[in-house]
Amino acid sequence: MSIRTHIEAITSTLQNTPCRLIAVTKTKPVDMLMEAYQAGCKMFGENKVQEMVSKYEVLPKDIEWHLIGHLQTNKVKYIAPFVSMIHSIDSFKLLQEVNKQAQKVNRVIPCLLQIHIAEEDTKFGLSVEEAEALLHLPELPILQHIKISGLMGMATFTENLTQIRKEFKGLKLFFNQLKSQKLPANVEMQELSMGMSGDYHIAIEEGSTLIRVGSSIFGAR
Ligand SMILES: *Cc1c(COP(=O)(O)O)cnc(C)c1O
Repeated sequence: MSIRTHIEAITSTLQNTPCRLIAVTKTKPVDMLMEAYQAGCKMFGENKVQEMVSKYEVLPKDIEWHLIGHLQTNKVKYIAPFVSMIHSIDSFKLLQEVNKQAQKVNRVIPCLLQIHIAEEDTKFGLSVEEAEALLHLPELPILQHIKISGLMGMATFTENLTQIRKEFKGLKLFFNQLKSQKLPANVEMQELSMGMSGDYHIAIEEGSTLIRVGSSIFGAR
């Protein structure tokens, strides 16, 4: 099946849901990204700064670039001029750096807090307690060049669908709790980024608004 066929199949499952597809293009060559673009997909996710910058430079400018992988503070400056959303905020220090670099280019960059929901301890992210603490820091409202637009999470890499569903449910519950809290003006809980090739069907059922799908579109990496 072609890239277009895969995209159309996934997009059709998103009909009548608030959820949108981010095509995860990491490690894939630019001609494959172009194929996805021509199939109507204009939101791409990358996990490495350098790779995202190189692809951004040669591809059409109406593409939305989503940084989904771990981000080092010293690399924020390279993506600040164009990145559409950073899904992987895991410290206040990183948020401050995004704010600083966004200010330099006169932008407000939408960011998601990455929450650790998986059993493995190899995955990055904040605990629920750490995220709560970050959202209540007195220094947070001062950051005028970032917006915290929601949460991101990755479920445990397992065949156990019950476990995956439980993790997504937990993230959605936390999202709803935050939504009902009084939070600073630069926080608005709108996006819930969860679901990858192996588990996006469950994520949609559990309230995802952004699925990040790579191998089901482009093949194995
Ligand atoms: C690679 C990656 C994905 C996509 O994974 P697939 O299993 O290929 O769909 C989604 N989210 C993050 C954070 C990733 O690093």
